Amino acid sequence: MTSTTTTQGAPVQVEKRRLHYPNIFWIAFAHLMVIVAIPFFTWDAFAWSLILLFGLAPLGINLGYHRMVTHGGLKMPKWAEAFFLTLGAAIGGGPPLHWVAEHRLHHRFSDTPKDPHDATKGFWFAHITHLFWHKEFEDVEEQWMAYIPDLAKNRYYYWLNKNWILLPVASLGLFYLWGGWTYVLWLGFVRVTLMLHITWFVNSATHMWGYRNYDTPDKTTNTWWVALLAAGEGWHNNHHAQQVSARHGHKWWEFDLTYLWVRFFELIGLAKDVKRPQLSLMRARTVSESSASPAS
Ligand SMILES: [Zn+2]
Ligand SMILES: [Zn+2]
Repeated sequence: MTSTTTTQGAPVQVEKRRLHYPNIFWIAFAHLMVIVAIPFFTWDAFAWSLILLFGLAPLGINLGYHRMVTHGGLKMPKWAEAFFLTLGAAIGGGPPLHWVAEHRLHHRFSDTPKDPHDATKGFWFAHITHLFWHKEFEDVEEQWMAYIPDLAKNRYYYWLNKNWILLPVASLGLFYLWGGWTYVLWLGFVRVTLMLHITWFVNSATHMWGYRNYDTPDKTTNTWWVALLAAGEGWHNNHHAQQVSARHGHKWWEFDLTYLWVRFFELIGLAKDVKRPQLSLMRARTVSESSASPAS
């Protein structure tokens, strides 16, 4: 079979007829394990799960998957880029190439029927239930590959995309050696489930609730509590307005922990070519809004 014509821009269909059983099973299992974990609660397991969550997700997911690889907001040596993608996979971020491709698709078609987690279909669809259905975009390699021409030839990334699950499973073994089943449940399942919901809030809440600094054509918002939980990713209207910028907090008080990490890596010489926002675009919009006259 010959390859199809380029499918970039082809509509992504949420095929409601075909349930995605692996996703449903995994999501249900993770939540069940959270309930199982409750009687095993210890303060040190709880504390370590939060330390790992808020210590590693900003580096693996926000800095690695999102700001560096998806959007090119900063550059690092190849080994460091591979390290952060591997970290993102190991903490449960999912297949990195799929993640990047689907996120680029989301930016291209935000809040339209082609958006894989179109928030106009409601909170729960954008947050979680879109994962319960097969998406043609995910299932057809030519479709998602068309969105990652810069990564598709990297053999290690391709391997990682296919085999990423081995890393979080291996980490469960480490947690067992470290602190028995209590650590498996809390540092493994509770931490990952919390991380998934925080990530999902960026797809749901920050396309619904909050304020806007930029008049973007989508429905994105800045949502302070998502920004705090997701280390800056909740300044999502800022991000959609200036997608390449490695800094998502654009007002002085919009705290962006991930950007502090970017600054740190820049200062020690590991991060280069860091893209920053054009803050004048935000001010221009404020001015034009305040002086807007009723249109005829
Ligand atoms: Zn978005
Ligand atoms: Zn993005």
